[in-house]
Amino acid sequence: MTGDNEIFKNALKNSGLSNTKSRRQLFNIFVNSGHKPLSPAEIVNFSNETMDRSTIYRNLETFQKLNIIRPVSIGWKIKYELSEEFHGHHHHMTCIKCGKITTIHDDTDIDLAIKNLSAKRGFQAIEHTLDIRGYCNTCQNFKNPG
Ligand SMILES: [Zn+2]
Ligand SMILES: [Zn+2]
Ligand SMILES: [Zn+2]
Repeated sequence: MTGDNEIFKNALKNSGLSNTKSRRQLFNIFVNSGHKPLSPAEIVNFSNETMDRSTIYRNLETFQKLNIIRPVSIGWKIKYELSEEFHGHHHHMTCIKCGKITTIHDDTDIDLAIKNLSAKRGFQAIEHTLDIRGYCNTCQNFKNPG
C-alpha cells in the first residue's frame, strides 16, 4: 500500500522542503498517536523532550501549510491530527468531561446534507469540519442534574 510515509515525503518534496530529522520525528509522533489529536505540549512529551518547543511550533506550522496535519478543536483547545489524506474524512465527538474522542467515519447522512445545502446555494464545497461536543455515555451518568 502507499504508506503514510510516502504521502508525507511527497508533500515535503513537492514544496521543495527537505525531510529533516525533526520533521520525520514529528510526523512519526502523529502516526504513533493512533489517531489521537495532540497538543504541542503532548508532542513535547512524546518526543521525550528531544525537540524544543520552538522547533515543534515551526514544524506544526509547516505541516499545516502542506496539509499534512489539520487543527481540531477539542473542548476549548486546539490540537492537531493528521489530515484527511491520511485518516480519511471523518468527524469527532468529544466528551467535555473526560476528554474521550469518538471518531465517526461512516456518517454519510451528514456529508450528503452538507453537500445538498451547498449545492442549493450554488456553492461548491470542497471541505468542512464538524466537531460535536458533549458528554459521553459514561459521563452522562455522573453529570450533575440540571
Ligand atoms: Zn466522558
Ligand atoms: Zn480525527
Ligand atoms: Zn463530513
